[in-house]
Amino acid sequence: MAVPVARSHTARTAYALSAVLLAAGITLTLWPVRLLDRLDTGVAIWPIALVAVTMLFSASSITVEFRRQAHTLSMTEIPLAIGLFAVSPVALVLAKALGHLLDNVRVRRPAYKTAFNVSLVVFQVPVAVLVFRALASAGATGPRGWLAAAAAVVTANLISAVAIFTVIALTQGRVGRGDLHFAVGEWLLVSVAETAFAIVAVEAMRQEPWTGVLLAVVALLVLFFARAYAVLRDRHLELAAVYEFGRSVSEPDPEDLPEFVAGKVRELLRAERAEVLLAYEGGLTCWQAREDGVRTVAPAEWPWSEVVESAGPVLGPRGHDAVAVPLRGETGVVGMLAAYDRLGNVRRFNRADVQLLAALAAQAGATLESARLVERLRHEAAHDALTGLLNWTGLRARVDGVINGGGRIALLLMDLDRFKDVNDTLGHHNGDELLVELSERLVAYCRDRRVVGRIGGDEFVVLLTDAGDVAAPKPVAAELLGVVAAPVVLDGVRIEMSASIGLAVYPEHGLDAAGLLQRADVAMYTAKAGHGGVAMYQPSEDHVSARRLVLAGELRRALDEGLLTVAYQPKASLEDGRITGVESLLRWQHRELGFVPPDEFIPLAERTGLIVSLTTYVLDRALGQTARWLRDGLDLNAAVNISARNLLDSELPDEIGALLVRHGVEPRRLTLEITESSVMADPERAMDVLERLHGIGIRLSVDDFGTGYSSLTYLKKLPVDEVKIDKSFVLSMATDAGDAAIVRSIIDLGGSLGLTVVAEGVEDPASWQRLADLGCDVVQGYGLCRPVPAEQATAWLRAWDPEQAIRRGARSVTELTPRRRLALGNDL
Ligand code: C2E
Ligand code: CA
Ligand code: CA
Repeated sequence: MAVPVARSHTARTAYALSAVLLAAGITLTLWPVRLLDRLDTGVAIWPIALVAVTMLFSASSITVEFRRQAHTLSMTEIPLAIGLFAVSPVALVLAKALGHLLDNVRVRRPAYKTAFNVSLVVFQVPVAVLVFRALASAGATGPRGWLAAAAAVVTANLISAVAIFTVIALTQGRVGRGDLHFAVGEWLLVSVAETAFAIVAVEAMRQEPWTGVLLAVVALLVLFFARAYAVLRDRHLELAAVYEFGRSVSEPDPEDLPEFVAGKVRELLRAERAEVLLAYEGGLTCWQAREDGVRTVAPAEWPWSEVVESAGPVLGPRGHDAVAVPLRGETGVVGMLAAYDRLGNVRRFNRADVQLLAALAAQAGATLESARLVERLRHEAAHDALTGLLNWTGLRARVDGVINGGGRIALLLMDLDRFKDVNDTLGHHNGDELLVELSERLVAYCRDRRVVGRIGGDEFVVLLTDAGDVAAPKPVAAELLGVVAAPVVLDGVRIEMSASIGLAVYPEHGLDAAGLLQRADVAMYTAKAGHGGVAMYQPSEDHVSARRLVLAGELRRALDEGLLTVAYQPKASLEDGRITGVESLLRWQHRELGFVPPDEFIPLAERTGLIVSLTTYVLDRALGQTARWLRDGLDLNAAVNISARNLLDSELPDEIGALLVRHGVEPRRLTLEITESSVMADPERAMDVLERLHGIGIRLSVDDFGTGYSSLTYLKKLPVDEVKIDKSFVLSMATDAGDAAIVRSIIDLGGSLGLTVVAEGVEDPASWQRLADLGCDVVQGYGLCRPVPAEQATAWLRAWDPEQAIRRGARSVTELTPRRRLALGNDL
């Protein structure tokens, strides 16, 4: 159990001062004071009675608390004044010291306070004796003796005032002026009263010694009533304070409430430290109030452990001055209020403090809990549940804050490339895990200087507000890409993610959060299209997104008006050089915009659903062409690309079957090219459709192979006949050893599974030769022929000489004269 260490600095200072006082006091006692005899005043009491009287007067002190300090109106110098007349000086020192020691022990004052109090007495008393003796004549009777006694008492009180303020000044740095005013008034008043009482007592005892007892009784009664009154008044003040606290607790903003309560508890309990501890689902948060303000600190184990265990109040164990009570909410104990080290030298926390603190806890508990709920709702409203990052609402508030504060800001919109593939192939839980992993990395990268949030599936936003960052956001964006690029292992699969970042800057590109985001979005699409991965918004780019809208709207009309055509790209067998088939690829010649690449309009068609009609259209054209070629003696297989959307269409097999019948084409002359990710969008349904297509006798080919994630495992399960190595690997196989290795292993794998392996993107004779050496079956690429319209394809096919192709590798084509190549459509 970790008990908080009490004010170690204060304790050290107190001990040091005690040592000085004790040394000085003992010296004075042993040398000048010991030489002094008891005065012959006609009164004598036993030193032991003086010890008792000292204890009684200390015990019946009234505490007046003023500002941070407690001031005691205890008439502790009455025994001193009496003792000056009635016991020997050394006995007086010892009796006073013993009386105070016993009293301190009785109330279990901390050791350093006890040491200080007793040392103070050991110093005070001899000085008072010397002052008294210096002023009093031998007999010390009459007004002269009284004045001497008064001077001694004033001196004693002055010494304790100076000593106490020295401690305060040393530990807290300064003493308030109010404290000093109060203290001066206090010790003068008290000194006069004490002396007067003592002299009355001495004079009375001179007449009749037993009157001392009567006077003690009277004094004690008066003190008792005064104390009862003081307690009553304190209670009253406390009640008023609790009531006032209950009212004020609803004032601060919910998020400032714990701080407010901690400050109030410290003030009302007159504690050196006060704490509000709240238990959230995830852990504990502790607000600690000290003289210099409130801050959150790591919560200590004790007294929270004990509060939880007992579900009730805790009053500090021996030697530690602490009080703690539970905060209750609807779910039971939800936190704790605690106060440590009561200020002032008078007393420790007691049961009355427990009650006061419990009253405060009762007032604050419900409000703190509802504030906690409000905070949580606020937090939830502004944060993403999966990653805990800010969501768009939270980010927008940050952007507004910066803009209102007159700052500049750069907004980075980051979109993960091919995140959908991860989700589709590895499942949503792995997709989630990836997002969480990436968000943690982003947070670690951004630290306190940058704000990171997530605004949708795989879109993250980073806000830069630092002047340097805003002036040059591109390096930050580049670093972010690096952060994302480090590999992640999901279900044992090592994945390297990439991303595209669009950048927009306030106020240049947008005047509010929504404007900035929209511009960053435009830039992000530019980044995706380009290669750098990062793009800054350029006003001229807005037409790009406008273009997307226009294209999406016009695609349907283009289809109806016959502006969409099909181009054919031949594939050649590496074994005998013969053309095995052609891939059918859509072409859109737009009236104003010219050639629109399929990579631009196919995604639009997939989004609008028009892809279903487009696929039917291409199938129809391709099968018609295949039938015509067949009649002309060209035995070719037609490949058509199929989208994910088509694979969800359970009517596809019947529809294709009907088309085959209508064109009189055998199913084996049709190859459907599918991508793995399109299968993974809904594997069960896709599998069903694929099985039926395969059942008809249609060939199935896996397109863009190598770019998906679970390539190998799924390939075995799919009813496929062919695999096409993605052109990105083939294109760089000569320069990138890694890509070359991938090409080689796909060829080996395809071979072992009995699949036809097609390499696409074959642009030069060298890769043709290399692929032939590796045992690849079929090649397709610009090195052979570009995709060309049907007529040109027909001419090219007629001119093709397999023998020559084999003999001279791909050079047979590329070494043709420019004129001839043009004729063959090789330069299209
Ligand atoms: P894909 O299915 O991978 O088609 C191959 C793409 O690679 C074609 O681009 C082709 O022109 C290009 N290509 C062929 N040889 C080479 C080469 O040697 N070097 C280089 N750099 N590129 C080469 P294209 O025609 O622009 O088509 C792009 C993509 O659009 C296709 O990729 C396919 O995914 C999609 N697409 C095209 N037509 C259709 C269609 O009718 N239906 C569907 N669903 N998608 C289509
Ligand atoms: Ca294809
Ligand atoms: Ca491909």
